[in-house]
Amino acid sequence: MAAASLSASNTVASGSRLTDSYGRVIHDLRVSITDRCNYKCIYCRTGEHGAQYPELQIGEYLRLIRIFAGLGINKLRLTGGEPLLRRGLIELVESIAAMRTITGERLDIALTTNGHLLDTLAGPLKAAGLNRVTVSMDAVDAPTFERITRVDGSFQTVLGGIRAARAAGLTPLKINCVLLRGFNDGEIEGFARFAREEDVVVRFIEFMPLEEGRLWTPEIVVPLREIVERINRIPSLAHVLPLRELPLREPSETARRYTFADGKGEIGIIAPVSQAFCGACSRVRLTSDGKIRTCLFSQVEHDLYGRMRAGAGDEELRAYVVRTVQGKEARHHIGEPGFLKPSRSMVHIGG
Ligand code: SAM
Repeated sequence: MAAASLSASNTVASGSRLTDSYGRVIHDLRVSITDRCNYKCIYCRTGEHGAQYPELQIGEYLRLIRIFAGLGINKLRLTGGEPLLRRGLIELVESIAAMRTITGERLDIALTTNGHLLDTLAGPLKAAGLNRVTVSMDAVDAPTFERITRVDGSFQTVLGGIRAARAAGLTPLKINCVLLRGFNDGEIEGFARFAREEDVVVRFIEFMPLEEGRLWTPEIVVPLREIVERINRIPSLAHVLPLRELPLREPSETARRYTFADGKGEIGIIAPVSQAFCGACSRVRLTSDGKIRTCLFSQVEHDLYGRMRAGAGDEELRAYVVRTVQGKEARHHIGEPGFLKPSRSMVHIGG
């Protein structure tokens, strides 16, 4: 399939593939459908305000997603804020499930959630066509978890949500844990056991400077090497250690994957800070108010919805997406002199 390029008339055919100026093929779209959240995780939110940006109507997200699907997007992740708070979510998933990629397949549809409402929504989401969920969970010790989320009883509720998702077949079920030194890095060993007991993929994520407040320092990041070393020293798991690294399934995979000697339980480590993977990035994001972000750390946003609201046709919108993706940043500059935090934090971009 030809790479998407603009003709002299500034149009681009549906069915071309999105590429950037570094030759990376962009096939993974993350769409935030609200920036509201029912948790106020203390490393993410200041706790002072909720939604900051407007939401589009479900039909408007669908039109924009269809434009991207026509340009080669084959993986779609719904996120937020907390996507399970969004009214119309089931209908949105149903309509995305009815779309086809440019090669005629169904899109791979995933969703990132804090899991609080998953107990009742897992079944309907699966029936609507959702393939997988990733649940964010930053501790396996209930009091620590509730201190982080600032919601009483949240640990048991999320555990119920995880089990409901597994029962509904939203698998492989991934649990994402953001690690901050001196804060929840004591949970590493507990999560290794949790991965095996609950038969889930636990993925540790390095903390990035994307919080509402100002918490990030290089020292607060717990690097990949340290996580592997600490798991390898767990006495009660000595019979299935050291961890064995698994091969990459695709070049743009963000996680380094490990398993135990008996193959039970999987640990992933996503290291955007200590081992950046920008060179293989295949992602682009759409915020809840319809702006394209070509990188989590972009300093500029591209107002796709603004063009749509002003009456642009699909062809014009496609050309705009192609042009915008061409300008995708080579890489982020976390930890380098002159690094600038983006104007939006993670909860308002869509993680
Ligand atoms: N509410 C949903 C959830 O909890 O998964 C989706 C939105 S949340 C912002 C998406 C993910 O971003 C969560 O796993 C969260 O832990 C992660 N996150 C938030 N701030 C982060 C940061 N500064 N660095 C790395 N990950 C972060």
